[in-house]
Amino acid sequence: MSVPLIERVAVSVYRIPTSAPESDGTFAWNSTMLVLVEIVAGGKYGLGYTYADTATAVLVHDLLGPAIEGRDVHQAPAIVAELAAKVRNLGRGGITAMAISAIDVALWDLRAKLLNVPLAALLGMVRAEVALYGSGGFTSYTIEMLQEQLAGWVEDGILRVKMKVGRDPKADLDRVAAAREAIGSAELFVDANGAYARKQAIALAPSYSQLGVTWFEEPVDHEDLEGLRQVCERSPGGMEIAAGEYAYGSRTFRRLLEAGAVDVLQADATRCGGYTGFLAADALCGAWMLPLSSHCAPSLHLPVACAARQVRHMEYFYDHVRIEHLLFDGVNRPVNGKLAPDLSRPGLGLELKRSDAQRYAA
Ligand SMILES: [Mg+2]
Repeated sequence: MSVPLIERVAVSVYRIPTSAPESDGTFAWNSTMLVLVEIVAGGKYGLGYTYADTATAVLVHDLLGPAIEGRDVHQAPAIVAELAAKVRNLGRGGITAMAISAIDVALWDLRAKLLNVPLAALLGMVRAEVALYGSGGFTSYTIEMLQEQLAGWVEDGILRVKMKVGRDPKADLDRVAAAREAIGSAELFVDANGAYARKQAIALAPSYSQLGVTWFEEPVDHEDLEGLRQVCERSPGGMEIAAGEYAYGSRTFRRLLEAGAVDVLQADATRCGGYTGFLAADALCGAWMLPLSSHCAPSLHLPVACAARQVRHMEYFYDHVRIEHLLFDGVNRPVNGKLAPDLSRPGLGLELKRSDAQRYAA
């Protein structure tokens, strides 16, 4: 068998306007940017992506892509480890980690395609399908928009939904009550995106719990490990505290777990080092005996969520579901609230719709 050498690393950026203005507890946006990495070897190409801006693409184009051209694609773990060393002086977190994450995913996709197997099979599966929770409920939405979106997921069989809180704390309980009214007995999650102060979050937790909220995400800033731990310890039974979406590597996951900062760890393969980083988070969750949930980018997470033992569910994020359908062929639709990979397609199973994507090129 000839050694498949990496011939080319291409990167492109897309800016996709939101369907309506969106905000959460600490951020507001009108568009989302996706950075796509494509790696060619042995007559096949693999793709990976991250939600980041053009600076991330520059890093791939100028520094990381040229560093891996000519390498043996089957040495992907070594290549990715070298890239992590290469960004030492730039910093390991943030855009460097997002760039490396997209490369890691593209290398996994490429290896699966060269072997002509679906990526879920190459990773090894512990489940054939993964439960979802619908995620959106932006603070910019009117009550009617909020109720319609959350109830829509429940009608489609996705019986867990998440909404944003924290932008206007005085309005939060009314918004959550309105959401509860719209979704009946479905599970309700809230995400404050770090908007609350410690005591504010601790005071709100029982009120949310009375409205049947079972998941309180980033009640305080994600770097406030002591604050997260306090909210964990003082929240009512039946309410789980979740965080981890801003972890850019396994050491941050370890710190969250060591601090007792979460009941459920979240990990985002587009930030934490691709599938390699996600599997490291899974191993840590196994050691800590805690569940794992994937953050955003459901189509990208699907194969690794089938492979990761501790995964409980995946986030079915409104913006990213919409973007995945706009940009890619091969995006699966949920059945009975679950997503299953198409095992007839090699690799990740996604193909860029090049002409459709072109109108969003940034
Ligand atoms: Mg979140």
